Amino acid sequence: MLNYTVDAEGIATLEWDYPGKSQNILNHASLTTFVEACRMALADTSVRGLLICSAKKDFIAGGDLAELAGVTDAAAFHAAIVAWRGFMRSLELGGKPVAAALNGSTLGGGMELALAFHYRVAADNPKARFGFPEVTLGLLPGAGGTQRLPRLIGMQAAAPLLMEGKRITAAEALKIGMIHAVVPAGEERHTARKWILDAIASGVRPLQPWDVKGFKIPGGGPGTPHGMQMFMAANAMLRAKTFDNYPAPKHILSCIYEGLATDFDTGLAIEARYFTNLVISPVSKNMIRSLFFGMQDANKLASRPAGVVQQKYTKIGMLGAGMMGAGIAMSTATAGIAVVLLDTTQEAAEMGKAYARAQWSKQVQKGRMTADAMEALLARIHPTADYAELKGCELVIEAVFEQREIKAAVTQQAEAVIAADAIFASNTSTLPITGLADASVRPANFIGLHFFSPAEKMPLVEIIVGKATSDATLARAMDFVRAIAKTPIVVNDSRGFYTSRVFGTYVAEGMALLEEGVPPALIDKAGLIAGMPVGPLALADEISIELVHKIGQQTKADLGAAFVERAADRIAAKMVVDLGRLGRKSGAGFYDYPADGSKYLWPGLARHFPARVPAGTQSAGAGDTAIPTVDEIIERLILVQSVETARCLEEKVLRAPIDADVGAILGWGYPPFRGGPVGWLHTLGLPAAVAALDRLAAKHGSRFAAPTILRDMAASGERFYA
Ligand code: NAD
Repeated sequence: MLNYTVDAEGIATLEWDYPGKSQNILNHASLTTFVEACRMALADTSVRGLLICSAKKDFIAGGDLAELAGVTDAAAFHAAIVAWRGFMRSLELGGKPVAAALNGSTLGGGMELALAFHYRVAADNPKARFGFPEVTLGLLPGAGGTQRLPRLIGMQAAAPLLMEGKRITAAEALKIGMIHAVVPAGEERHTARKWILDAIASGVRPLQPWDVKGFKIPGGGPGTPHGMQMFMAANAMLRAKTFDNYPAPKHILSCIYEGLATDFDTGLAIEARYFTNLVISPVSKNMIRSLFFGMQDANKLASRPAGVVQQKYTKIGMLGAGMMGAGIAMSTATAGIAVVLLDTTQEAAEMGKAYARAQWSKQVQKGRMTADAMEALLARIHPTADYAELKGCELVIEAVFEQREIKAAVTQQAEAVIAADAIFASNTSTLPITGLADASVRPANFIGLHFFSPAEKMPLVEIIVGKATSDATLARAMDFVRAIAKTPIVVNDSRGFYTSRVFGTYVAEGMALLEEGVPPALIDKAGLIAGMPVGPLALADEISIELVHKIGQQTKADLGAAFVERAADRIAAKMVVDLGRLGRKSGAGFYDYPADGSKYLWPGLARHFPARVPAGTQSAGAGDTAIPTVDEIIERLILVQSVETARCLEEKVLRAPIDADVGAILGWGYPPFRGGPVGWLHTLGLPAAVAALDRLAAKHGSRFAAPTILRDMAASGERFYA
């Protein structure tokens, strides 16, 4: 855990070396060991200074999230923080110089620990990053970070680092004064030792700036005119951005404001309370589960079928050089894999490559990529109209028009050329994979790889397993998704699979609200307040109301008598067929899109979908004629997604709850503070969730009816997550 040595000059070296992990992390066990070693060094009269360093490639990666996620006892946790805080103060005030040699990344609790030392020198290591990423998981730097950093570098410089979780380089950390020096890699321990020896020789008691008499906060404190202005603006901006859905950045702001208005030790006490509040909050639990552990497992391919040799990819085929095909080709080329980009004509295929060039040129212009690097990427994309060029591809993905006959034809043409064990994947967004596999001579090698638009940017791939798809094909497809640095979730075949199906309910609920006479501005604003990135009507415009209409028509044709018409089907038909408003692409949807300005809600909506009660007369509880409150709208927009997700679990479209949550966050920007559609049911508690669904179903219909899986789990006290 920790290697402790004392040299002839009385310098104790405490070298972090967490056993069995590639990174040093802070948890009860490692901190206890560290505290004991420091106490020993402080008490030992032969020790004159302390050098803290790491045996790993990085210094300290941060706190142990599994341990934090398991905290439920606020009082016990708070007591532990107070004890830890006391120890850090004893180190700062212990009279012996303490220096850190930061050989690599120093993040979160690791950076906070380093701030409690008198001196920090970092190696000039281009991979090393420094900062406080806690906020990205709903937490705050609770080991003194919100108090030490602003007292060290000023509130203005500290606030964005603490509130946004940005990771900076050693050079940037030096520039703002977060560390004292950067030296060539390998010299950092030597430099730290030298500083300790100089400090001893100076005879001056080592102290932190805030412990020196007459200390002033650099740039002034919260009570100065400048400080007051900063907090007013920051608070307003935060509220506008997050609608107070995320308590962490707000608590960080409060820690700075309240903590810097008082003495240092009281500031630490304030921070400890805000930190405890966040650690036990459902928001941080949700964010840690979905964004950290869920994402980590997905990227590690935790659900990959065992016993299949990992597939290496050198050449893949991309059928269709349209928007999706070009984007997928870009991601593939970026991963160092050659792509045969095929379309109906050489010219059409070249257009796909031209799209890639246009996108990458923007990166070159911004200085994020060199022109040579771009040419190297482009050289991996081979546009063609000749199927013979697919020879040797380990995988072929089709992204041609969304028509069964065309997809069947390209499947057969490709399979005639590629090896018998190659995989064929469809990027269809709506057509069931099992049906498409009918065109294949080897359906066991046929799978769905559903990318999101723009494919070169979006991180999720929904892998769809058809009835005949083999485990080996699934495993090898997952290898491809990882090879191109995207995150996979695996689902079983069904109409709309998982993502389109659940995401579609959000859009449809927004349209149902419109039909009920709820003002459109209220509907879309409620979507944003709910935490969704875009309101449901604006989103319908983006994906195109025409697509909503087409999917509805297709579903009707496929289901026949079993088809149940929804408000969204009626509204989409009216918008597209009667009013010719197809969405953003036609410049006219629920919004108008003037060529020379920002979009605004189409004034005609008021005529075609009259508001139930004139705006301004909203009164809660006024019976059925009242416009629903914002909270009521939010509940519907969020629970409609959760209930559909529960159905996907019940029908085994989803294989695991966490796939639903990771897929929703990465696929359509579902708000992480809720955990995901399943995470939100878990947050509410299943009995409360079922009660809410019963109430909504009674009022709005069967789309809110709680599926049996939820009722059974609620009744038996079972939970989706621990
Ligand atoms: P697109 O119209 O931009 O591109 C389709 C391309 O396929 C065109 O370049 C066309 O020339 C080519 N093509 C048509 N027939 C062909 C054939 N027989 N052989 C070779 N090429 C042929 O469409 P897109 O948006 O890229 O969508 C493609 C597929 O991806 C569809 O199945 C769609 O449902 C799916 N998808 C789209 C999105 C999206 O947001 N656009 C998201 C996920 C999945």
